[in-house]
Amino acid sequence: MAILVLGGAGYIGSHTVYELIDQGEDVVIVDNLETGHIEAVHPKARFYEGDIRNRSFIDSVFDQESIEAVIHFAANSLVGESMTNPLKYYDNNLCGTKVLLESMVAHGIDKIVFSSTAATYGEPERVPILESDKTNPTNTYGETKLSMEKMFKWTGLAHGLRFVSLRYFNACGAHASGNIGEAHNPETHLIPLILQVPNGKREAISIYGTDYETKDGTCVRDYIHVTDLAQAHIKALNYLRAGNASDIFNLGNGVGFTVKEVIEAAREVTGHPIPAKVEGRRAGDPATLIASSEKARTVLGWNPEHADLKEIISSAWNWHKNHPNGYAN
Ligand code: UDP
Repeated sequence: MAILVLGGAGYIGSHTVYELIDQGEDVVIVDNLETGHIEAVHPKARFYEGDIRNRSFIDSVFDQESIEAVIHFAANSLVGESMTNPLKYYDNNLCGTKVLLESMVAHGIDKIVFSSTAATYGEPERVPILESDKTNPTNTYGETKLSMEKMFKWTGLAHGLRFVSLRYFNACGAHASGNIGEAHNPETHLIPLILQVPNGKREAISIYGTDYETKDGTCVRDYIHVTDLAQAHIKALNYLRAGNASDIFNLGNGVGFTVKEVIEAAREVTGHPIPAKVEGRRAGDPATLIASSEKARTVLGWNPEHADLKEIISSAWNWHKNHPNGYAN
């Protein structure tokens, strides 16, 4: 039987497909290619281009393929856009997941691993953040992801579906092969934006705020390598295969780095001076987000292997320097 990866042409989805195939899994990908890239589709996966909001399309995939479980990455994920166009996020993320779940229930498919986010917490009450902490999203993106988690919960209670929701902190880095990496348009994430400077695409990196209550005044984030995230999805799949109950797990390294520390590490990795300019705070940015991933480590047996910041940035740089225009070249 195959694993269906929704959004398998996107950043984290494509890296998860590479790991699944490395581990001998049979993989089917669905992606509407709105933000995914055909070049990121693994050559050994069977690819169906289409949209999860289209019931007859998603039914046809389940009819043609023998699907054991679903890994669900198919969503819009830009925080800023989710604030200016919230209904796009309700439509794709929530309505899409509703259609998907209707089709899964109709086809008797009862396992799903879900791509969630630290944005479900909003401004944290304390760090490191535990899965049991309050969820109070400060943007539409996080709100839709939290609602999707709840949709799995109630659908599971009614129809016997089990889910694992993985709340990622700051995904970064790229696959060791150099074939796939991060390619968003527009790009809003810190590490790829920093690397645009040594790539000659940007004069300087902007630092959004130096007046936070952190050790150097810039925001602290928990950066986690995309391959470690991918491995966690496989652990979660095996957890569900073993018959375990639905649950939610944070995924991070449990270590925070400031924006200035990330820029300094990128200078060391690239050998480029990377000029930085200080700007005002970006709306909605909490000062510090650090995961407690103890639960994923003890329950799923997950061990992130790429915790070193310079190693993470080196792997990202290996991708970006060879793909300065993303998949376009
Ligand atoms: N950031 C920055 N300059 C940029 C992009 C991001 O200073 O050009 C900061 C941002 O304010 C946040 C951190 O870098 O504190 C990580 O931002 P990113 O968008 O990568 O991830 P987020 O934590 O928002 O999910």
